[in-house]
Amino acid sequence: MNCPKCRHYMKRIEYRGIEIDRCTRCYGLWFDNFELEELNHLTGSEVIDIGDTDLGHEQNARTHILCPQCSPPVLMRSESDKKQPHIQFERCPKCKGVYFDAGEFRDYKELTISEFFKSIFSK
Ligand SMILES: [Zn+2]
Ligand SMILES: [Zn+2]
Repeated sequence: MNCPKCRHYMKRIEYRGIEIDRCTRCYGLWFDNFELEELNHLTGSEVIDIGDTDLGHEQNARTHILCPQCSPPVLMRSESDKKQPHIQFERCPKCKGVYFDAGEFRDYKELTISEFFKSIFSK
């Protein structure tokens, strides 16, 4: 599979049995449907997001991204996270795959961790 943003090869990587694709150039991450949810709840899974945040920001400005999984290609929709509106990612309306730019997954997970602590201390 090729990166929907920079067109370079995406390599399959695995974290605790969950496979995701990571771009070998811009380090964008591709999650199939439900993989994002699963990884979001696994402690330490942010290690898969090794890319440079600045490059991620640059890549984030690219819109009109075509889903790398669907054929014929489907235009992905830009979405922002409800809890963290500054995080914008692309979701395919057909296969529900999600693309995160480098650094966004780390950012996305930070809230989950702080929420986790909040839930412990509010008991
Ligand atoms: Zn890329
Ligand atoms: Zn798709």
